[in-house]
Formats: sequence, C-alpha cells, structure tokens
Amino acid sequence: SRDASFPDAPYSIEALQALARGQGFAGLRDKVVLITGAASGIGLAMAHAFSACGARLALLDVDGAALEAAAGRLRAAAPQVPILAQVAAVDEQPAVERAFEAVEQAWGRVDVLLNNAGISMNCPTLELSGEAWRKAVDVNLNGVFYCAQAAARRMVARGGGVILNMASMYGVVAAPERAAYCATKAAVAMLSKSLAIEWGPLGVRVNAIAPGYVRTALVDDLVARGRMDLDALARRTPSGRLGTPEEIAALGLFLASDHAAFINGHVALADGGWSAYSYI
Ligand code: NAD
Repeated sequence: SRDASFPDAPYSIEALQALARGQGFAGLRDKVVLITGAASGIGLAMAHAFSACGARLALLDVDGAALEAAAGRLRAAAPQVPILAQVAAVDEQPAVERAFEAVEQAWGRVDVLLNNAGISMNCPTLELSGEAWRKAVDVNLNGVFYCAQAAARRMVARGGGVILNMASMYGVVAAPERAAYCATKAAVAMLSKSLAIEWGPLGVRVNAIAPGYVRTALVDDLVARGRMDLDALARRTPSGRLGTPEEIAALGLFLASDHAAFINGHVALADGGWSAYSYI
C-alpha cells in the first residue's frame, strides 16, 4: 500500500542539481501551455519564457492584431515551437470553451494554464458606473473562473496540471480609486486557494501571482492619462523601481515547473517590497 506521507515521485537531488546548473526547466518541453492575454506585457513575456523551454503555446487574446504581431515575434525567436493563436475574450464563456476545444483537438491536452488576461479600472468609486464595475468583474474574475474550469476539466481527465492565476498586490493591499480592480484581484487570490484545496487531490495545482507595479502597456496607459507618476511609484517601492514583465515570467516559470510541486494554494507576491511597507 502507498505511504501517504511521501509523494509518489519524490523531488530528487538530481532535479535540484539540474535547477542549479541552469537545466531545470527541461520538464516543460512539449507541455501544452495556454496563456490568456498573451499579446502583451506579462503574458507575452511568459510566452517567450515557455517557448524557450520548448513548450507548445496556445495563445489567447481579445486583440487580434496584437496577438498576430506577438505570435510573429515568438515564431521568429523560436521557429520550431508550435503556436496556436486564437482571438477570444476570456469573459465570454462560449468563446473560452471553443478555444479550449481547439487546443484539445490540436494537441489532446492542456498541461499548464496561465490565467493572465486582466484590465485595470481606475476611477473615483463615487463615479464608477455599473457597466465599468461589471466589465472588471467579467474580465478579471469571471474570465479567470471560465478558463480555470475549462482547463481543470481536461487536466483532471488526463491526470493533472498546473494553473496560475494573475492576481495583483492590489488584491492584498488596497489603493484609492481602484475598488473594482482591488476587489476582483482579491477575489482571484481567494478563488485560487479555493480551487487549490478542491483540485489538489485531483492532481491540479493552483497558485496565484500577485505582481506590484510592472512596466507594461497597462501601466504606460495610466501614465499617459495622467493617472500615474512613474518616479513617485519608484520612490514608494522599497526596491526603488518598477518590475519588468520578465521578472514576473521567471516566477511563473518556476511555479509552473515541478520544482514548485509542493507549492499549492499560494499567493506569490512579486512587488519589490511595496506591500511590506506601511507608508508613513
Ligand atoms: P497588458 O495590458 O500589457 O496585457 C493584457 C493583455 O490582456 C492584452 O494583450 C489585452 O488585449 C488582453 N486582454 C484584455 N482583456 C481581455 C479579454 N477580455 N480577453 C482576452 N484577453 C484580454 O497588461 P499586463 O500589465 O501585462 O497585465 C497582465 C496581468 O497582470 C493582468 O491580469 C493585470 O491585472 C496583472 N497585473 C499587472 C500589473 C502591472 O503593473 N502591469 C500589476 C499587477 C497585476
């Protein structure tokens, strides 16, 4: 009989040495990795990271032109990596189902879901429309649920998988005029824990990533609209700067790999110390 206090495949000294030698992500080769919001920013950096591991990439984004450009850049960087790019909105459940179905048709499985698509919503809450509130909930929360469920159904049927949901440090600490964003990201963090405890026994690991300020189109757009001051953000961050999409992708790569096999139901902050700092 199985000794329940030990894993079926214990993490080996060889795996640890491979990681230390820089060969730690070979296990991701040929894995089918589905990334939402893959055309830009953090999602695109994740796509580059998993592409470099030889994973098969299923890319989803609502912006068709940006997705085509991103897929072109990924193909140029790694021509041997199979890419299936699909235009779909994560907040439309039938479109999500069709997209997962197409991936299954092409490759027979989904091993890793990077539930990354999200939108910012900056507005004084007294002026926030019901429509804007619902859009934030639809994309940032409902979309994460639709994709997670579509992925997990397939993962459970095939014996396991990994889901990473993109939360935010603003799901852990609040910011003014971001009620919809903060509330949806906090919900993503708790959804991740809820799914982890329910799906862990079925072989599906679920974690959330909670980035601080990362220099992407999302942030550049807020700067352009005068809603954000980059110098002030850098000064407020203990690390003294904003993060890069690549730094978030590095965390994603680790959490998706078997090196993180015992990390489950975790909300991983990568915020340069922002949320640790109780501002004076
Ligand atoms: P980004 O705007 O650069 O990229 C987001 C991508 O998602 C875009 O390509 C966009 O077209 C796509 N997208 C938007 N709505 C979609 C929908 N309904 N369906 C499918 N795709 C959709 O943003 P980013 O900064 O790379 O953010 C990625 C994730 O990281 C988001 O969930 C965001 O909330 C989160 N995040 C970002 C920061 C930051 O500082 N940039 C900080 C914390 C969390």
